[in-house]
Amino acid sequence: MADPVLIIGAGVAGMTAAVELADSGIEVILIDRLSTIGGNSLNLYKAFPTDDCFYCFEGNRWRPGIRKCFYRSAMIDQPNIVLHTNTNISDIIRKGETFQAKLDVGPVYVDSKKCTMCGLCLKHSKAFSLTSPQCQPQAVIYNPSKSDEGAKTAEKECPTGAISLDAEPTEKTIAVSDVVLATGYHEMKPTELDEYAYGKISNVITQLELAKILDPNSPSEGQLVRPSDGAPANHVMMVQCVGSRDENYYPFCSKICCVFAIKHANIIAMERNSAKVSVVYMDIRTYDRHEQYYRDARDAGVEFVRGRVTRVEECDNGSIDVIVYDSLLDKYLKFNVDLFVLSSALEPPIGSAELAQSLGLSLSSGYFKPEDITTGNEIVIGPHVYACGGALGPAEVPESVTQARAVVSKILQSRK
Ligand SMILES: Cc1cc2nc3c(=O)[nH]c(=O)nc-3n(C[C@H](O)[C@H](O)[C@H](O)COP(=O)(O)OP(=O)(O)OC[C@H]3O[C@@H](n4cnc5c(N)ncnc54)[C@H](O)[C@@H]3O)c2cc1C
Ligand code: SF4
Ligand code: SF4
Repeated sequence: MADPVLIIGAGVAGMTAAVELADSGIEVILIDRLSTIGGNSLNLYKAFPTDDCFYCFEGNRWRPGIRKCFYRSAMIDQPNIVLHTNTNISDIIRKGETFQAKLDVGPVYVDSKKCTMCGLCLKHSKAFSLTSPQCQPQAVIYNPSKSDEGAKTAEKECPTGAISLDAEPTEKTIAVSDVVLATGYHEMKPTELDEYAYGKISNVITQLELAKILDPNSPSEGQLVRPSDGAPANHVMMVQCVGSRDENYYPFCSKICCVFAIKHANIIAMERNSAKVSVVYMDIRTYDRHEQYYRDARDAGVEFVRGRVTRVEECDNGSIDVIVYDSLLDKYLKFNVDLFVLSSALEPPIGSAELAQSLGLSLSSGYFKPEDITTGNEIVIGPHVYACGGALGPAEVPESVTQARAVVSKILQSRK
């Protein structure tokens, strides 16, 4: 019997590839360095282009007829998928036609098969948290760096005995036939771009942080409020191309940030209707069918200012004064806003360069580079190595899913 396929990264792309390979009878080892699967999609609230809830994910034949929320997608109990969360690759080498990988499997502090998410441990200690009510595996997470006496009490009192604070990491060596890189992207934290005061003024946030505020499952229950004091945010300003299209950081366009910024602007303008939204941009790149979002935003009264932010200053009442050079009017304009939201560059996750080196692969702007772009096989990165979704560069969900399916089709063809 052929060796299993290793999928690195359990975001939308990795999960799609895992489920479809498993449904085709192929054994899959799916790993993620985080304790919860879903990747970035866990934190994004509504998804363009359907404005669906972000947890929606196609079900599979293993559980026919089920709703498509991915937390019920059979990822956990599909017998052909072995899932290792909290897991990193410490070494991976090609051995003839196959690969040998060493996995560092993190300690299992909370047994997801026993945890009923009763919430008792959350009351005892800040070391326990719940990523999302929809998280998969359905279990709380324990962070040992926040451990305290309350954590020990929780271990004793957990009604199902799910907690082991002394759990140890383990190592595992596996042989696999193919490697699928589904490592996604990471939103840049723009602390080095002094002009935006990110990390210095608490009401300066990123789009990912705004998505969390807008999510009804967040601590603010979806109310549009300022992180500094919980006061309503009456005027939100977004600024595009932060760290992208910038030779000092990422020279490339991050491709999807115009669309998700306008998605957020529309949610605010249409669903949190007393707030005003302004977007400062160089170019608006709502590619493909997403142009409609831009039109909807204009109709909903979102203000677009073409220019550059030149100064940001915190006021005594927590609001922020922003000076913008408007390149169409050739004028400096002053705004007073409550939330200043940065559309920050999407960067490759930490560890991509090491993975590429171990597997003898090339990178392009830090993302995995297709073996031969001229053949149109953009998902083939090397012999029996494939990539899909954000691992190839900024991509939306439908594109990530399509690429994951193309990877599955390539692997199935190679086994015929
Ligand atoms: C603010 C914002 C809003 C967005 N809104 C939309 C939207 O409305 N609609 C839409 O279609 N798209 C949207 N996107 C894009 C969407 O998030 C991506 O298309 C999608 O997350 C890509 O999925 P992925 O599986 O490729 O990557 P990810 O979601 O990034 O998942 C990758 C996974 O791999 C893991 N990983 C990485 N490296 C390793 C490693 N070395 N070892 C083990 N695990 C690893 C990570 O922990 C992560 O879980 C938005 C993005 C942002 C930033
Ligand atoms: S107390 Fe135990 S069962 Fe309850 S949420 Fe915590 S780990 Fe899970
Ligand atoms: S998608 Fe828009 S905001 Fe993002 S880098 Fe490109 S032009 Fe700038």
